[in-house]
Amino acid sequence: MAHTEKKQFAVIGMGRFGLSVAKALSGMGFDVLAIDSDELQTQAVSTIVTHAVSADSTDEEALRALGIRNFDVVVVAIGEDIQASILTTLILKDMGGPLIVVKAQNELHGKVLHKIGADKVIYPERDMGLRVAHHLTSPNILDYIELSDEYSIVELRATKAMIGQNLKELNVRAKFGCNVMAIKRGTKMNISPSSSDRLSEGDVLVIVGEKNDLTKMELAYSEG
Ligand code: ATP
Repeated sequence: MAHTEKKQFAVIGMGRFGLSVAKALSGMGFDVLAIDSDELQTQAVSTIVTHAVSADSTDEEALRALGIRNFDVVVVAIGEDIQASILTTLILKDMGGPLIVVKAQNELHGKVLHKIGADKVIYPERDMGLRVAHHLTSPNILDYIELSDEYSIVELRATKAMIGQNLKELNVRAKFGCNVMAIKRGTKMNISPSSSDRLSEGDVLVIVGEKNDLTKMELAYSEG
């Protein structure tokens, strides 16, 4: 789809996470307004993003003066000061306008954020911890993405036992109740694999399933 106008992003809180989001969006060519109450933090980012201002996001007037309502997306990346994160989200929600994405410190913080109307709550530390843990328990697991409380997606490198088998012979659907959504081969991606597709060394399977089923499958293939 062609976009006539570029999306406008604001990122509040230039800790490691906020900075990384702001840098990445800027690198993709988007306009980014970076906000932090600490002037040193905004100075550090001023050469990277379109605008960097020092302001307290719990100050409604300050946010209004920055025209925050006109942005498409606001990312609230204040971590430690949970009160400031909640207040900021509440003010943004009351103003209406942008999609509000907020980083949560823990489950309780996340629950509150959902209750007050955050459009998306993210848990970078928890999610990265989960991904690293899955990779560590089985080196064939290249990535692990949680879709919901029940479902996840794993990227599994084809083990020795899998190589040469087709998907019908592999039969992860019957054995583990999981579905192979795609097979990556080098830079190519087969997004509608058929039962006769045979696995080669280096192939990566993208598999969706219930978490318990995926864990069983991971354990079954952990030695490959
Ligand atoms: P990370 O783990 O991503 O480094 P963190 O979760 O430890 O960050 P903090 O360091 O607590 O998060 O906060 C990130 C940034 O948010 C800090 O640079 C801080 O100055 C800024 N910040 C905190 N409160 C406010 C506020 N009310 N308005 C604007 N910025 C704020």
